[in-house]
Amino acid sequence: MKIQITISLVMASLVLFSCGTSNDKANAGSADTNQVAAMDTTTEKTYAVSLVNNKKDPSCGMPVTAGISDTTHYENLVLGFCSTECKNEFLKNPKVNLAAAELK
Ligand SMILES: [Zn+2]
Repeated sequence: MKIQITISLVMASLVLFSCGTSNDKANAGSADTNQVAAMDTTTEKTYAVSLVNNKKDPSCGMPVTAGISDTTHYENLVLGFCSTECKNEFLKNPKVNLAAAELK
């Protein structure tokens, strides 16, 4: 009889232990998810809109509020672009393209 009680106690503690372990795993998993979400946020918005002097990407006309992937300095201005391709397009003829940038 004493042995049976001991076995059931051991079983109960094993169940509790395994429950605790699975909870730890669940917590670790959610922490990983938070880290990934934070990384996504940083890659999505590389440059803040307040850092640039233009309202629109001069090459494609997209508002900089939609997301800035690249910037360039031109005549003491910081210009934001939706992509490196747009920046390169601007730099081919910056004097003409600047008119489309809608400076703040
Ligand atoms: Zn663009």
